[in-house]
Amino acid sequence: MALLDIVKYGDPVLERPGESVTEFDAKLKRLVSNMFETMYASRGVGIAAPQVGVSKRLFVMDCSGGRDPEARVALVNPVVLTVEGEQTGDEGCLSFPGIFFPVKRSLRAVVRAQNLDGEEFEFDGLDLEARCMLHETDHCDGIVFIDRTTTLKRELVRRKIRRLEKQGRWI
Ligand SMILES: [Zn+2]
Repeated sequence: MALLDIVKYGDPVLERPGESVTEFDAKLKRLVSNMFETMYASRGVGIAAPQVGVSKRLFVMDCSGGRDPEARVALVNPVVLTVEGEQTGDEGCLSFPGIFFPVKRSLRAVVRAQNLDGEEFEFDGLDLEARCMLHETDHCDGIVFIDRTTTLKRELVRRKIRRLEKQGRWI
């Protein structure tokens, strides 16, 4: 296993829809285990392939921080089937280090995906798991979390990033 470099906002791969995964081979399994390792090392609860520079539709998630084996899941070619309710809470993203702001999401989400053998399954997530699945499925579609806030907030975040860029503290 190896740690992968996490792509920061500004890299076009984050705003390009990923390609569907069609090969369920050893290469995919290796990518997924490296994504898990990279996510745990960064103390994130989810990471999508575009965030490690791979423009494919898949993500890994573990909202238990490694404590619950059932929470450790890889979702390949995810599709949001149903959503219910509403929650607002601070959200962060490994591609936007140090940036957190409230984002409104559904309280519950059911996502259909394929596992590493290509078999379909559904994952029913509440609270943080729902938030994470919606955030990561967005990544698979080339959408980043600043796209889920108000124009004003998005401008403030972009301005902050530009300031960090000028100081050489971004990318
Ligand atoms: Zn993210």
